[in-house]
Amino acid sequence: MSPVNAYIVIPCYNEEEVLEETCRQLLSVFDEMKTQKLINDDSRIIFVDDGSKDKTWEIIDRFSDEYVEIGGIKLAKNAGHQNALLAGLMTVKDECDCAISIDADLQDDIHVIPEFIKNFQNGCDVVYGVRSKRDTDTFFKRTTAVAFYKLMQAMGVKMVFNHADYRLMSRRALNALSEFSEVNLFLRGLVPLVGYKSANVYYERNERFAGQSKYPLKKMLSFAFDGITSFSITPIRIITAIGASVSFMAILAALYVLFSKFFGNASVGWSSLMVSIWFLGGVQLLSVGLIGEYIGKIYKETKRRPRFIIEEYKK
Ligand code: UDP
Ligand code: MG
Repeated sequence: MSPVNAYIVIPCYNEEEVLEETCRQLLSVFDEMKTQKLINDDSRIIFVDDGSKDKTWEIIDRFSDEYVEIGGIKLAKNAGHQNALLAGLMTVKDECDCAISIDADLQDDIHVIPEFIKNFQNGCDVVYGVRSKRDTDTFFKRTTAVAFYKLMQAMGVKMVFNHADYRLMSRRALNALSEFSEVNLFLRGLVPLVGYKSANVYYERNERFAGQSKYPLKKMLSFAFDGITSFSITPIRIITAIGASVSFMAILAALYVLFSKFFGNASVGWSSLMVSIWFLGGVQLLSVGLIGEYIGKIYKETKRRPRFIIEEYKK
């Protein structure tokens, strides 16, 4: 099989501590793949500086002068991990056969990249890097992550379990991805929507070798919340369901209240109050849910997602 033109895209935010080592390791994998004739000489490693405040861009700049394989994209301001990644992928998509995204801290094992490429050569348009173990993550990160995937599943969002943003996408998959014009980006939910043939490659996740996680709890929670609300209207449905059950309970409450009024010694005014509270509560929740349904529709419309992606057209 002929060598492919592969790009590696790495979003970086304040990563001065890891960049040199990351560069060194990626270049050595690159060299290996070149000798194995997996990738050609036009292949590149592209760092995306996501508005870093430290020396990240200076380092990228220096490396891109030093090595032909290395290039850099500097974003005007911090746009966030997902946007930085998309910026990189969309910038390179017309230059490459396929692009691999990976985090700057190399927590994801770069030695499976050749396997990504082999899967691509065998006709896969998307190759997901999937963590086989989470031993190196802290207990907290591990449990929250598993809970997150479970929750997303319950909300009906199709996601690859234990896959983050370490993946290969072919040029046509990237072109399909570019049709999704939504602003609230949650790539690992979007990529499965693109479709095409995909494969999973398993690897063990390492610890961050230097620097600190750029995802503190607050960012993690908001990321998870974004993921759910960008992909699912299940929360709205839950409100509707609660509304329906409260309304049903209002009927039971009414029966109970009437029973107490005639056979018990209910105080004056209590019966009408009780029935109104339950009934109005139920009706209000139902109405909110109903309005929510329409908002859900509007929200789906405004995303202007492609309604189909053609894989082949034979004439
Ligand atoms: N990142 C980014 N912009 C941000 C935050 C993070 O480009 O605003 C990058 C970061 O440099 C790294 C990747 O996103 O390459 C993942 O971040 P990190 O490793 O800190 O996340 P974790 O592995 O702890 O979930
Ligand atoms: Mg990391």
